[in-house]
Amino acid sequence: MNYIGRFAPSPTGPLHRGSLVAAMASYLDARAHHGQWLVRIEDIDEPRCPPGTAEDILATLAAFGMHWDGEVVWQSRRKQLYEAAFTRLSPWVYPCGCTRREIADSRIGIASDGAAVYPGTCRHGLAPGKTARAFRVRVPDAGDPAGVITFEDRWMGTVSQPLATAVGDFVLKRADGFWAYQLAVVVDDADQGITHVVRGADLLDSTPRQIYLQRLLGMPTPAYLHVPVVTNELGEKLSKQSGALALDANAPLAELLRAARFLGLEGLEGLEALVVPAAPGVQEEALEQFWRQAVAAWCVRIGRA
Ligand code: GLU
Repeated sequence: MNYIGRFAPSPTGPLHRGSLVAAMASYLDARAHHGQWLVRIEDIDEPRCPPGTAEDILATLAAFGMHWDGEVVWQSRRKQLYEAAFTRLSPWVYPCGCTRREIADSRIGIASDGAAVYPGTCRHGLAPGKTARAFRVRVPDAGDPAGVITFEDRWMGTVSQPLATAVGDFVLKRADGFWAYQLAVVVDDADQGITHVVRGADLLDSTPRQIYLQRLLGMPTPAYLHVPVVTNELGEKLSKQSGALALDANAPLAELLRAARFLGLEGLEGLEALVVPAAPGVQEEALEQFWRQAVAAWCVRIGRA
């Protein structure tokens, strides 16, 4: 089977216990399919990406025994691809002069990602006195079956989202001039020939928007698998804001076992005994053993999931 998967971190902070789970799942799925595992640095939101963070993430992946195939791709170096796709989407794109506040005030609804559903104010042209801030892509009207995106998630099952009422026309080019994640990810997944996307369920709600863009652009839709997201005691996604737990770089095996337990991988208990302050050579062997067993456990897990 031709399998190309990827891990696509946004380097806004170091890899943490939450992002390790997503990295592990995508890595295991690629290895289980004897496929390629690519790493793409999603540094498109440049002001939010402190220098050196991406390198730090890559070093952690390598130290934890997750070795990627091919060259690492950086979104910040691929802007001409996003521009080209944006141009191809122009029949469906329009400038929007609404501020975040105005959209929130319209109270049409809150999208699942917490943003307000866009009420379509600028759909038929900018109101007099307004200037273009962002650029949005038009989604089919409510009730139009073309706007209901349904897909089979390999972990979550059938997912269906009516774009018009769940998100509305969404942003492709942001008010600050940066490309939106939704556009960049679709362009990159197609350009890199990604066949399987494995990532955290915090992005489940984005997938219908991405499939919609794939359809408009005539790009293939990969298979999707969204793993549950690690949350803190308050049920908040682990992130810098919610006080994510940093990874202990000196205890990779312990961290990997914790992530594997979260994913429900069974039969790895024997490896716990290897979690000792070990000499580097010994540790490497233990990591190799972990990954071998974890791939087998993943096959069992997704067979069941
Ligand atoms: N860059 C996104 C993140 O770190 C993930 C994108 C994706 O996997 O599609 O949350």
